[in-house]
Amino acid sequence: MIDIGNVVQKLNLNEGCIEGANVKVRMLSELKECFADTDAYNVAMDAGDRVVYSVSSIEPGGEDGGLHYGLGMIMPGKIGDEYFLTRGHLHSKRSAVEIYIGLKGKGTMLLEDEDSGESRTVEFKENTVVYVPGYTAHRTYNIGNEPVLYLGIYAADAGHDYEAVREKNFNCVVTETGAGPEMKKRSDYLK
Ligand code: MN
Repeated sequence: MIDIGNVVQKLNLNEGCIEGANVKVRMLSELKECFADTDAYNVAMDAGDRVVYSVSSIEPGGEDGGLHYGLGMIMPGKIGDEYFLTRGHLHSKRSAVEIYIGLKGKGTMLLEDEDSGESRTVEFKENTVVYVPGYTAHRTYNIGNEPVLYLGIYAADAGHDYEAVREKNFNCVVTETGAGPEMKKRSDYLK
């Protein structure tokens, strides 16, 4: 028996949510360890906590072959020169891939191969599809001046491993320069 309630959902691109879905909101105060520039982070927190991103998710579970999806919204902003970002994660099931579909704004995904540590960025905007391979840590940045919206679709059993990323963070950061966004090594950024 098909549960019609789970078949069609409405994306609300003005509010940045899936109507009726669970929404997780990430505040700046929860993301201290993510940003490279601690001094700039403290100054920003002194000015007041704020929403950095939210994800509303449809996670019906299901057997092997099941899919989950979520609508992410990242607000525009920077800490120092580093753009507002998501916490980032590997999938608990490392082989699980993910499809991101850009819906609004200008984003960059930072992809890091877990084994080699090799990093790359992929820019996306409305009507762009990003294939995130397995075994790859992924973090999303808002490199524009308006909210970034994207739909992420992933295996129901992918799981989110935030701890592996929290321990060593990403090797690279994405920062604003006079010439536009640039990926640089975290260890080089504040020199
Ligand atoms: Mn993911």
